[in-house]
Amino acid sequence: MSKRVNDVAHPEPLYPSDVIAARLETLADEIAARMSKDFALVAILKGSFVFAADLIRALAAHRLNPDVDFMTLASYGAGTVSSGTVRLLRDVEIAVEGREVLVVDDILDSGRTIAYARHHLLERGATAVRVCVLLDKTADREPQKHADFVGFSCPPAFVVGYGMDHAHKFRGLPFIAILSEE
Ligand code: 5GP
Repeated sequence: MSKRVNDVAHPEPLYPSDVIAARLETLADEIAARMSKDFALVAILKGSFVFAADLIRALAAHRLNPDVDFMTLASYGAGTVSSGTVRLLRDVEIAVEGREVLVVDDILDSGRTIAYARHHLLERGATAVRVCVLLDKTADREPQKHADFVGFSCPPAFVVGYGMDHAHKFRGLPFIAILSEE
């Protein structure tokens, strides 16, 4: 049963940290089984930074040490509703040409962010782009908007914690929680 972060001082998480940690181990197994040894990992900032940090260490335990870089994409501003337009605020620095790339993001909702990242990295010469998201919010999407690896399903609510914010707050919560509308 989830609690809402701004209702109570110590909210009960939607996904507690021990459940997240256990899922990352199995997610790393799935990635190790399907990705080549020499892939590049591109994390989408800012929301995925905690997830990416834990995931790359889970991958290291599977002897996978991808080159790691970041892209900053924005569509939300400070609110809880997407603007519908994805903007590239920071591009990757590593060369992705001729490489398999794993894009890591926090949440898959409409799929616009992932579709933008996939298209951008393929245009920069990546041979294949696979996608790993911590949370998947909706089900009915075009194929280029699906993720290859999903941590958890997510209810249709605005969630925070474990790197995810609302107006720059709550990123440091060690668990995932639902933000109250009040
Ligand atoms: P999409 O482009 O798939 O509609 O939205 C994905 C992006 O929107 C995510 O990378 C994330 O930054 C943001 N987002 C979507 N839903 C939520 C949410 O519930 N909480 C937070 N903090 N960000 C969200």
